[in-house]
Amino acid sequence: MEGAGGEVGAGTGADHPRLALDAVTRRFAGELAVEELSLEIAAGEVVCLLGPSGCGKTTTLRIAAGVERQDSGAVRVAGRVMSEGARHAPPEQRAVGLIFQDLALFPHLTALENVAFGLRALAAPARRARATRELARVDLGFAADRYPHQLSGGEQQRVALARAMAPEPGVLLMDEPFASLDQRLRDAVRDQALRLLKEDGAGVLLVTHDPEEALRMADRIALMRAGRIVQCATPQEVYRRPVDRQAAAFFTDLNVFEARVVDGAVSTPFGPIPAPHLTDGVAAEVAVRPHDVAVNARSPTDPSHLATARVSRARFLGARILVEARLEAGGALLQAEHISEDGVAAPRPGDEARLSIRPENCHVFAAKP
Ligand code: ATP
Repeated sequence: MEGAGGEVGAGTGADHPRLALDAVTRRFAGELAVEELSLEIAAGEVVCLLGPSGCGKTTTLRIAAGVERQDSGAVRVAGRVMSEGARHAPPEQRAVGLIFQDLALFPHLTALENVAFGLRALAAPARRARATRELARVDLGFAADRYPHQLSGGEQQRVALARAMAPEPGVLLMDEPFASLDQRLRDAVRDQALRLLKEDGAGVLLVTHDPEEALRMADRIALMRAGRIVQCATPQEVYRRPVDRQAAAFFTDLNVFEARVVDGAVSTPFGPIPAPHLTDGVAAEVAVRPHDVAVNARSPTDPSHLATARVSRARFLGARILVEARLEAGGALLQAEHISEDGVAAPRPGDEARLSIRPENCHVFAAKP
């Protein structure tokens, strides 16, 4: 740490968020990478920083870790100021665990030695005991004496997890930690990591550009765009009540209708969709996710929001069929889904189909000028 010895700020940590970023800003060569970003993570909470490439996720994480320095704003861990103004505690003084995509296990150390590496404060027997226990928690007790090159990708990632968790940090910072694993392995390692992280009660900040990963892992998703958090809420909230069309589009494809607001509603080929939050006369966009457009559902829940269409493509995905269909009225091409039901024929190209939506699954935004 720069400045005087040891004291990095007041606070016992008990009532404070595990990690707090306060109006953090970082520029590179004059360009904003992170702008006035504020975020708090409670004990036991997993927050995912989610956003497209280049939006500032990794820079935010590096600032939290102390490997990058913000131009302004503050970083606190358990209420203690780690970085603000001239004060800047280096990573090793922050009691944070780090896991990055390129996990950087030490190739010349065994799995057990890798895990023990972060426990240098302990005497040798205690260190070995703790490292052994942490390896067992990730089901790798059998691999204690193997070197990284003798481990599979998933096993290496679990060693990295054990190594990061062994010192029992209050905060874990993870940057795309599962990206290098194939799908099946990713799900298994992710689920195990989540279970262990919850057991330990650390605050977790996890960077990902994968919306499914964020939905699966996060207690809260902080959706980032161009250096800012545009929405921070539970996965359900971010998915079901996106702040704008781009936020909605980050999770799935969208069908979009454009129209003006008249008498508090927007008219669509499916009928009027309420838009009480928009003023009359405003240009609006109504977005509806493909899986919220049902094809030939036997009992559409809202018979007042139906439209007839002609199927142009049908892609079989097991229990679901992804359908592209052109509306008879207006001719717009929509993406929709058919869910298999006993006694209901699967839609095929050329068929006439009945599409149905529910107004509450529609997202109405003011059109951007
Ligand atoms: P990705 O998902 O591709 O990793 P990201 O959201 O993590 O992207 P950052 O790596 O934080 O984005 O980068 C944010 C912006 O800052 C980008 O425009 C990037 O080019 C720029 N940037 C990051 N690090 C530096 C650096 N050391 N020097 C100059 N520009 C940088």
